[in-house]
Amino acid sequence: MENFTPTPYTLECVATGREFEDAGWMLADPQCKETSLVRTKYARKQIDVKPADWGLYRFSDWMPVRRILKGSSAPVTYKSKGLAAHLGLENLWITFNGWYPAIGATMSTCSFKETEAYSVCGRAAADERRVLVVASAGNTARAFAKVCSDNNIRLLLSVPYDNIGALWFDQPLNPCVKLISCEKGGDYFDAIHLSDIALKSPGFYAEGGAKNVARRDGMACTVLSAVTTIGRIPDYYFQAVGSGTGAIAAWEANMRLVEDGRFGRNTMKLMVAQNAPFVPMYDAWQAASRKLLPYDDDKARRDAEIIDAKVLSNRRPPYSVTGGLFDALKATGGEVFVATNAMARKARKLFHELEGVDIYSAAGVALASLVNAVNAGKIEKDATVMLNVTGGGEEHFKEGKELWYLKPSHVFPLEPDENDVVEKVEALFN
Ligand SMILES: *Cc1c(COP(=O)(O)O)cnc(C)c1O
Repeated sequence: MENFTPTPYTLECVATGREFEDAGWMLADPQCKETSLVRTKYARKQIDVKPADWGLYRFSDWMPVRRILKGSSAPVTYKSKGLAAHLGLENLWITFNGWYPAIGATMSTCSFKETEAYSVCGRAAADERRVLVVASAGNTARAFAKVCSDNNIRLLLSVPYDNIGALWFDQPLNPCVKLISCEKGGDYFDAIHLSDIALKSPGFYAEGGAKNVARRDGMACTVLSAVTTIGRIPDYYFQAVGSGTGAIAAWEANMRLVEDGRFGRNTMKLMVAQNAPFVPMYDAWQAASRKLLPYDDDKARRDAEIIDAKVLSNRRPPYSVTGGLFDALKATGGEVFVATNAMARKARKLFHELEGVDIYSAAGVALASLVNAVNAGKIEKDATVMLNVTGGGEEHFKEGKELWYLKPSHVFPLEPDENDVVEKVEALFN
């Protein structure tokens, strides 16, 4: 890893095609009048995959990172036997993100949020003085906490109090990672609200979500893992979506791989799934609408409470934005599916029995959709299928371990006094 040199890249506005230099942490083209994602354009058109001990950074040719951080793991892709035989598929490939050392999967926070965390934090300058702020309901917070703790990067997490049980680790965290919460009853959106207040202090900066190219290009590593293992671009890509960021990233990776030229010119169909009854993107896609349909706030909260896969309950996904999920589905001939809790639970059990490890509800939603699509005759039996298991192995990881939980430094009311929040979060890092 000594010989790491960052790959040169430029940014490109998807709406206008304007190409410009990344002045550092740019999340949009300042000259673009509409809302549009920006994308990276890497100087290196053919990816040179680095040795396994580089962890996730084996794909750093196509990551906008300035440096390599300690402790990362790459997704692991393997050809399924058990599940493949059960489904009658000849070329089912599983990309596993999580903890399953028997196959070489060692993401200790157990989800593909680790891919984005290592990429985003590697994009930040080593001498960045400000504190990174991340709001999350769980998996994202755990991933960022690990990366920042292991690499001495200052991080402020904002997580709803009801979700802080998601912040388990196998060892105490470095005190450069701090947590604040909104009081009981608050949800992900209240946590975002709280983090926005903290961001009013000049000492803090926002991670940026889907708009951050490092987040998407980190998640794209799932597809880079699959394609460099399989040797070709798959026909179908199955993933459960909350924001859709991972699926947008998959499409972007596909376009780069086509340009690479060694893996075929295929466009894989994005087969994305939501957990019923929380299905805003499914509803919009069925209505052929770029805009999300109106979704009553109270109903959305109730629906979010019902579903098993809470990570899929994003109410403001980057679906409509230029270069977002609507465009990705259109460009790839994709489809949106729904799976109920019952279907997802059955799928999780099936995965455990046939592939040997526990998976998260979200991954169960993706697998349930694959099962349904196969049963509906939508998948040819010789098609090359990539199943993105976005998270798993939490039960396996926790076996026999004593866990340590990150506790909030402060718990704020849902409508907190802004000055109080700013004062308190500033004091945490002084
Ligand atoms: C976040 C998450 C998803 C959804 O990913 P998006 O990029 O938000 O669509 C799926 N599965 C797991 C395990 C996740 O943590």
